[in-house]
Amino acid sequence: MSVKKSGFFCFFCGKHCSLIAHVEDGKVTRVTKDKESGILSDICPDAKGPVTIPGVYHHPDRLKYPLKRKGKKGGGQWERISWDEALGSIVEKFQSCKEEFGPESIAMVLGEPKGLDFAFGQRLATVLGTPNVITPGCYCGVQTAAANQFTHGSMMVNADYDTQKTGCMVIWGNNPRHIGGTFNGMMPTEIDERLKNGCKLIVIDPGTIDYASKADLWIKPKPAMDGLLALGMIKVVIEEGLYDKEFVARWTVGFEELKTHVATFLLEDIERETWVPRDQIIEAARMIARHTPCIIGTGNALEGTIAALQTCRAVFILNGLTGSVGVPGGLIVKTQNKFHRPGKFYFPKGFPRQKENSIANDFVLAIGSAYVPTQTLVNTILTDKPYSIKAGLFSVTNPLCTYPDAKATYDALMKLEFMAVAEIFHTPTTAIADIVLPAALPGEHATIAYWPAWTGQVKCDPKFIDPPGEAWPDMKIFNELAKRLGFGEYFFEDTDEKMLDFWLKPSGITFEEFKTKRILYPDHAYLKGNEDKFFQTPSGKMEIFSAQMEQLGISPLPYFEELIKPKQVAAPSADYPLIFTNRKETGFMLSGYRSDPAMRKRYPEPLVEIHPDTAREAGIEEGDRVYIEAAKGRIVQKAQLNSNLDRRVIMPAFGWWFPEAPEATQYGWRKSNLNVLTNGYPEELSTGAVQLRGIPCRIYKADDAPL
Ligand code: SF4
Repeated sequence: MSVKKSGFFCFFCGKHCSLIAHVEDGKVTRVTKDKESGILSDICPDAKGPVTIPGVYHHPDRLKYPLKRKGKKGGGQWERISWDEALGSIVEKFQSCKEEFGPESIAMVLGEPKGLDFAFGQRLATVLGTPNVITPGCYCGVQTAAANQFTHGSMMVNADYDTQKTGCMVIWGNNPRHIGGTFNGMMPTEIDERLKNGCKLIVIDPGTIDYASKADLWIKPKPAMDGLLALGMIKVVIEEGLYDKEFVARWTVGFEELKTHVATFLLEDIERETWVPRDQIIEAARMIARHTPCIIGTGNALEGTIAALQTCRAVFILNGLTGSVGVPGGLIVKTQNKFHRPGKFYFPKGFPRQKENSIANDFVLAIGSAYVPTQTLVNTILTDKPYSIKAGLFSVTNPLCTYPDAKATYDALMKLEFMAVAEIFHTPTTAIADIVLPAALPGEHATIAYWPAWTGQVKCDPKFIDPPGEAWPDMKIFNELAKRLGFGEYFFEDTDEKMLDFWLKPSGITFEEFKTKRILYPDHAYLKGNEDKFFQTPSGKMEIFSAQMEQLGISPLPYFEELIKPKQVAAPSADYPLIFTNRKETGFMLSGYRSDPAMRKRYPEPLVEIHPDTAREAGIEEGDRVYIEAAKGRIVQKAQLNSNLDRRVIMPAFGWWFPEAPEATQYGWRKSNLNVLTNGYPEELSTGAVQLRGIPCRIYKADDAPL
């Protein structure tokens, strides 16, 4: 039997490594690293893509046919139905909701984009007339993108390709070896090259990441207090005169306001609130400012607090003060690729989104970025305020495990009159659906991947096997629904390769040609030679003080009072003396793919990392079952001792549920799911960010709780 090889991109994390699928007799027998094309393939140590993808493609538990609930909601009884019946039921419900309660009573609930699915879901919502598109933007990506936009005038601020000239790197709240690169696209290969060239490295993380052992300085701040740490370093850089004076004078606005503000607090205040010794704050600030250009690569950990936006702003301002923006070896701005802009596709001509009708009307940046924070959906369903949400279409998303306050999410989704969920496997969320639709993966259909959008790369994912049973690509589901709802003229006849040509038109190539080219890279610019257009801010400069933010009612500077808010909403007490932070295990993608036997063998159970002294005090030993209790509830995970942790911090694993548990328990989502312990309130008032880390808790042995 001949083996056909096909290049594609891993869909398990934001790195999107270039991989090769080995296809034999219509089956993917192996997935290997792409060593030939020259496209970056920075595979993680767990080799999540190569290990998991073959098993996922051909897993016997893949959803293969549309299903309709039999019996009570969440009861685990299903009946196979045709696509015609499934789509007909959704259309009938949506039309009756629209007539009776208005289109805004329908929610479009989207997960992490893989191909063009996200853009199709947004467009369907727009033509349908509902502004209520719910995405995880409120705790992933939006704060970084918005802070970059306000500070630099572009969300596409990335590490330069030139690895020779960088003087210092900071890896902050991210584990780039395992899960994506940093938000500014600093990939492990490039980090390694820079280290070989003598570049300094600072790691800022309460947990043990791979690069910590290579760091010149490893700082372990109190979870959720990163913004204050950045502000402390800014104070040192300014007061010791270490900033790039020429850059600051010529290319920034608001420096004097910042200088005045940092004089209002002491480094001892920062030390007390962040747990980082004063000397370490000074050492880090000096290293960053003296070894330029410096690239501070942040990760998702900085976004899981109610000070997320201001934290990102503080970090970017710190980076900018060193004169590292727009120079070789520092941060550059990438320009939009020649590709039909997904954001434009969301809004067909003549269909403005009815923002004023959105349940997220209060969140000025969420509205601007076309999403509703997840907890806003939950709260609206539970309270029927400002109006009732009656029905939802969910696309490859698992809110029961990924939204804050899992119990409230469960109550809300149980209350929802109608839920249609498109998924790869059954999940806790499909278990309480009315209709389940089988979704196809990239490789089972041709698509184009453009996410994360801020890297500006556009990637070709050709089809190389058939989907299982009757599974459809999500974009086809949206497309067919649009046609049945009477909006066919704004969509496509089919979501085939001809449709993909439309997306590539601005680049002048067809999808057929794209299969050989495989990737489109964006252009990039340095400040020199682009002085008139580098900073696309209102002032044409890097905005330390943002008048734009002020006009929107958002603090124009990352003040101390803003950055200390995470502590004010979650202070430890006698009942809850420890603090947990939020750990994404390296073997999985968020809450997904726990059905895969290969990776499950390596990571069979959720692990909570605990300092040995803290464990001893609680009578806990390595491998014991441990209850983790917070004000919101209690879960159980297995103890893994880690002497590198601060004694006051524990690190439970995120996203756990158990595909092997009975469906009538919704696959055991209550047992170990970290979001049982988080809360949907309070929220950061522009993006809807909530506190997902730095939450007080206690631990004790769980002898009575088998996993
Ligand atoms: S999960 Fe691993 S293999 Fe897949 S893109 Fe991420 S780093 Fe690469």
